[in-house]
Amino acid sequence: MNTPSERIQLTSGDITNLAVDAIVNAANRSLLGGGGVDGAIHRTAGPELLAECRTLGGCETGQAKLTRGYCLPARFVIHTVGPIWQGGDRGEPELLAACYRNSLELAAEHGVRNIAFPAISCGVYRYPLPDAARIAVREVRRFLAGDAQIETVYLVCFDETVRQAYQQALAEE
Ligand code: ADP
Repeated sequence: MNTPSERIQLTSGDITNLAVDAIVNAANRSLLGGGGVDGAIHRTAGPELLAECRTLGGCETGQAKLTRGYCLPARFVIHTVGPIWQGGDRGEPELLAACYRNSLELAAEHGVRNIAFPAISCGVYRYPLPDAARIAVREVRRFLAGDAQIETVYLVCFDETVRQAYQQALAEE
């Protein structure tokens, strides 16, 4: 088994194109669709995804829920709700860390071997990218250090600023 750091890969582009076991959705608490990556995932997955989401009763910030992927190449979608950035003293770092942890735990429970994350909370929820990237890298590394099943975690860089933030975070720790 590779080291936790070797099991983290940066990848560019659109998460909805990835043929992995699970992609993570940066959802909102209703789980009934939104903009950004959430909108893209629902558009590609098709209406059956929304139908399954309607049965879930929403999701609290920091928690995660799993659905099938329907028309996506990914088998599962793990919907997690990141914190809205409100200055950093409203529990945002702990909640963002919980998104990564809970998503990875749920993935492992479902036999997932490779999983892709968008930069949760870094779009309309305005979490500062360098801080969010550090939390993502720290939590993924910690999880992988205690898990032998998940082989690869892809951190999806939707644009160059996201890639730079992850590269910096990977170099730091
Ligand atoms: P949040 O509400 O959690 O901030 P957003 O969807 O607004 O979620 O943004 C989260 C991150 O996902 C941002 O970095 C954004 O650039 C990125 N993103 C948007 N669309 C996609 C996509 N199709 N694939 C991968 N990442 C995406």
